[in-house]
Amino acid sequence: MIVVMRSGASPEDVEAVMTRIRELGYRPHRSDGEERTVVGVLGNDRRVDPGELTWMPGVEKVVPILAPYKLASRDFQPAPTVIDLAGLQIGGSDVVLIAGPCSVETRAQMFEVAEDLQALGVRLLRGGAFKPRTSPYSFQGLGEEGLRILAEVRDEFGMAIVTEVMGPDEVDLVGSYADVLQVGARNMQNYRLLEAVGRQQRPVLLKRSPSATLEELLLAAEYILAQGNPHVMLCERGIRSYDPLVRNTFDLNAVPLLKQLTHLPVIADPSHGTGRRDIVGPMARAAVAAGADGLIVEVHAHPEAALSDGAQSLRPADLEALLPALEHAALAAGRHLAPVAAATR
Ligand code: PEP
Ligand code: MN
Repeated sequence: MIVVMRSGASPEDVEAVMTRIRELGYRPHRSDGEERTVVGVLGNDRRVDPGELTWMPGVEKVVPILAPYKLASRDFQPAPTVIDLAGLQIGGSDVVLIAGPCSVETRAQMFEVAEDLQALGVRLLRGGAFKPRTSPYSFQGLGEEGLRILAEVRDEFGMAIVTEVMGPDEVDLVGSYADVLQVGARNMQNYRLLEAVGRQQRPVLLKRSPSATLEELLLAAEYILAQGNPHVMLCERGIRSYDPLVRNTFDLNAVPLLKQLTHLPVIADPSHGTGRRDIVGPMARAAVAAGADGLIVEVHAHPEAALSDGAQSLRPADLEALLPALEHAALAAGRHLAPVAAATR
């Protein structure tokens, strides 16, 4: 449940409510909005009698939150979470674009693609240094050397870096180079990792597991939020289905549903969601039209030579050709595409 304070409630009123919540054996989570303060009751609160809190000074109402996730729910926080990054606002009025190769392969590869992407107005660069590969014999990423290359690219091009962290003991290392920590689909339910990225303050891009329900995705986000990191973006990247024509089935339903259920930004990944370059563009448009706050798209200057996910990687020219259509899709959703908006302002 959440305790909604009156707009004129004093700091002492809020403190008293938080103390009472602790006395009842729960964890209070304070969130100060523009108008009023809301205090979440964390823990299995079904046994708390709302009457315990309803009549305290400064309390306007006590609202039950029926969803098992609390901090992630729209009921807890009606206003969207907006994450500031590289001069962009993720979850704000513009639709942001994260682009780059699946893996960091060489310094030259990253510099080439970053230069092309920067020319298209892309400010957020993706690239994996630690790669979760289905086969142990596939390219596993360059590790820390890849992180160093990413940091060089950031210094040269002023882009923010999005890169994956695979284990709780690597969070400090990856966090010392990255601007956004990506938790991959395979790790969505690695609870020690979720807690570890929750204990630090870099924004987290949390990808949906191919077999997870949306509720499970939101509960995974809750692990991060409950540790004190409010900067979580959710990523729909396709779910496992039965058609061998595609790598995954991009779940477009997830986009508007997540927007209803949570205040967290929703990012769509049509690259992994399809696995094929020829339909990445249409699905990217669809996701933006459906209300996604951003896209993460794999782009490689030479996809035929890519060490991972070449078949789903766009060339920079493909992305360039797609931008006007993405802006149209953004307009259909009452927004602008950030790179296009920046170029025309
Ligand atoms: C990736 O972004 O390259 C990746 C491995 O994605 P996912 O975790 O969604 O499979
Ligand atoms: Mn990939």
